[in-house]
Amino acid sequence: MNDDQSRVHVDPATTRKDSVKTEVGSVFVSNYPPYSFWNSQDVEKALEAFGQPASQSPLGFYLHIPFCRKRCKFCYFKVYTGKNSSEIQSYLDGLAAEFETYARQPAVLGRPLKFIYFGGGTPSFISVKHLQWLTERLKDNFDTRTVSEFAFECEPGTLTASKLEAIREVGVSRLSLGVEHFDDRILADNGRAHTSTEIYRVWPWIKEMDFEQVNIDLIAGMVGESESSWMAAVEKAIELEPDSVTIYQLELPYNAIYSQSIRDGNPEHLVVADWETKRRWHSMAIDRFLAAGYDISSAYTLVRRNGKTQQFLYRDALWRGSDMLATGVASFGHINGVHFQNSSSWAEYLETAHAGALPVKRAYATTPQERFVREMILQMKLGYLSPSYFSDKFGVDILSHFAGQWAHLKGEGMLDFSPEKITLSRSGLLQVDQLLPLFYEEKYRNSRYT
Ligand code: SF4
Repeated sequence: MNDDQSRVHVDPATTRKDSVKTEVGSVFVSNYPPYSFWNSQDVEKALEAFGQPASQSPLGFYLHIPFCRKRCKFCYFKVYTGKNSSEIQSYLDGLAAEFETYARQPAVLGRPLKFIYFGGGTPSFISVKHLQWLTERLKDNFDTRTVSEFAFECEPGTLTASKLEAIREVGVSRLSLGVEHFDDRILADNGRAHTSTEIYRVWPWIKEMDFEQVNIDLIAGMVGESESSWMAAVEKAIELEPDSVTIYQLELPYNAIYSQSIRDGNPEHLVVADWETKRRWHSMAIDRFLAAGYDISSAYTLVRRNGKTQQFLYRDALWRGSDMLATGVASFGHINGVHFQNSSSWAEYLETAHAGALPVKRAYATTPQERFVREMILQMKLGYLSPSYFSDKFGVDILSHFAGQWAHLKGEGMLDFSPEKITLSRSGLLQVDQLLPLFYEEKYRNSRYT
């Protein structure tokens, strides 16, 4: 890429959304260009990308288990509640068919997997029998001996001691428990299926299994939250001594139950803390975890200093542009420079997978400029950037390329920079997702994200 041709000049004051109130709309940035620009015309390009020889980048595997006991009121994922065992088996049959189709693609054939991620939804919702069956099908089709990380999301109320044993047995190395909070009133009000009793019931079993890394998720600013209830949750999380803790600030994505309620003109029972308050609570939590022996690993994650591993390979590989096969309804992946997403229709997904075709429904063929911006904005979430990484990989001097943005953000106290490193301040890290659109190309700014 020619750096001069693609240099971007923007007026940050006119591009950055910095509303104090928590409005309906996605703030969290997980990809670039925004999903709203992915389209059906580029599906052909995704299929062509699968037909090309394998690239040298690491290959990961994402598997979407879209089942949950209840739909949380803030959730925006594709999930189903109330599916029975035979419906789950028919979904897993579709996944197995999709594995076989993927394994035959020239871009995938014989390529070892570096990481596996079971996300959802709730992967721990499925039975031991289903889990064992599914992982066997995965191993039938892919070389998993090279996998360095096998991550698996759990909901406390779906776990038993025997299920945890099976999860460990199939090779899971990083277990992530969706705790979100310890206050039963807040959990129930926000539509969570589990209670604090379930968290404490499963925790000793989890500890006993000796996973390489156990993460717990917390959400700052759930509806009904106060400073004291939040800090009580933080203390309880510290008492559990997880290897890693991930903290999100509650947002109101378009398709969440809460957002629908607001759009229906019924927001009076819905008090969501403003962004400034959520950042303050998040920052207080970071201070407590730092004092308790944790280090900041990204804008959202803290890891225990003496834990077995500090790495989160899935995150780091994605933020460095690795390829990822995405299996399951509505899941997102990337291959040979093309983003793609599977059909979000249960029937269409299963029908296509069983017909031996890839169930890709929309895609986006990225340009070199877009791949460069994508990696840069995602890596900003680590709290620092190394300009040499981008000059080596993309031939772009990010300091001069985005000179106006760095100067503006430095003036606002969001970061500092030197020729060797760009470092976000605590304030910048706490609102990193709101800063990222500053680096978008003009046509993507002020657009809907999803
Ligand atoms: S458990 Fe997770 S995926 Fe399921 S509804 Fe709640 S937030 Fe969504």
